[in-house]
Amino acid sequence: MKKYLGIDVGGGSIRGTIIDKEGNSYFDFQIPTNPNFSNKEFLDSIYTVVKHCLAAVPADAIGIGTPGPIDIDTGIIISSANLKNLNNVELVAFVKETFHLPVYFNNDANCASLGEYYFGEGQKANSLVVFTLGTGLGCGLVMRGKVFNGYKGNGMEAGHITVVKDGALCGCGQRGCVEAYFSTNGLLGRYFDLTNKKLENAKEFFELVSQNDKNANQILELGISVFAEGIRNVIHLVNPDKIVFVGGLTASYDLFGKSLEEKVNQIIFPVLASYVKFAVGKSVAGSFGAATLAFQHFEP
Ligand SMILES: [Zn+2]
Repeated sequence: MKKYLGIDVGGGSIRGTIIDKEGNSYFDFQIPTNPNFSNKEFLDSIYTVVKHCLAAVPADAIGIGTPGPIDIDTGIIISSANLKNLNNVELVAFVKETFHLPVYFNNDANCASLGEYYFGEGQKANSLVVFTLGTGLGCGLVMRGKVFNGYKGNGMEAGHITVVKDGALCGCGQRGCVEAYFSTNGLLGRYFDLTNKKLENAKEFFELVSQNDKNANQILELGISVFAEGIRNVIHLVNPDKIVFVGGLTASYDLFGKSLEEKVNQIIFPVLASYVKFAVGKSVAGSFGAATLAFQHFEP
């Protein structure tokens, strides 16, 4: 059986996993990233992970998922909010020339969607939308088994749909995006606006919610209401049968999931509410999603 190396570039680490198309894992390895990496330091780390994985288990092709914006045609990471010194990194050319294997490339949210489609909660969905709830808010669409890329791999940026006109400032530089209200940065940012208190992470925020903290509850309610409008827009645009939530914030899904689903169902066309299903993903590793990019080409 052919084997595929999936490489997932996150804000905190670069992870490589070798799998087959059934999802059997043969090798797994990761190293930390530094948010201040230069292009060269970044490519050196990619080299280390790919080299180490291929030395352990030879693979037939490589799939890579990274934050963007990217250009899937030229294989370039244009920039990244979490690796802020990266600038037009010629990632695919570097890996191809160094390791002489076919290389496939897409953004991390698109890879997460493929991971859920093949190995997680999105299996057999006709039109699957996946929301990645982490530092930011990403989104991907897999329609009849094919991921939707848009022109260069930057489609489905649902985190940057405007819901609140002239609203809170988003990491993208504009105001009122869904991400500015429902993501780690969004929830912590809006909590800070309200209380002038800086929280360390989402866990701390949701602990306050479980303790019934008035301010945290208010910010969560606001976030749910904005996110629900964003999901409404996506549902009316692409008509999914399944919506899957993945990422760190889903650890607290019991504190917001029911309310979010109810709100969405109240504001979409009733016929859509009658069949769209929601689920928390199976935490399929991003590296599995990246490997699917490769096996789709060899064993579709
Ligand atoms: Zn934005």
